Amino acid sequence: MSDGPVGRCPQCSKPSLIAPANPWRPFCSERCKLVDLGDWMSGRFVIPVVRSDELDDYPPDEPPPQ
Ligand SMILES: [Zn+2]
Repeated sequence: MSDGPVGRCPQCSKPSLIAPANPWRPFCSERCKLVDLGDWMSGRFVIPVVRSDELDDYPPDEPPPQ
């Protein structure tokens, strides 16, 4: 780890090489990159979405206002 700038792995906080030689940058290893990706998949970082069903919140016997 001496051929490039060293940063900090966002996943495990260990030193990681920030250079093309490290294909997993800014992570220190493939494992940390996969763990971070898994966090996204598990919904740890939830992206707010507009609920489309709020547009259909009218009583069924009343037409929606124009
Ligand atoms: Zn790491």
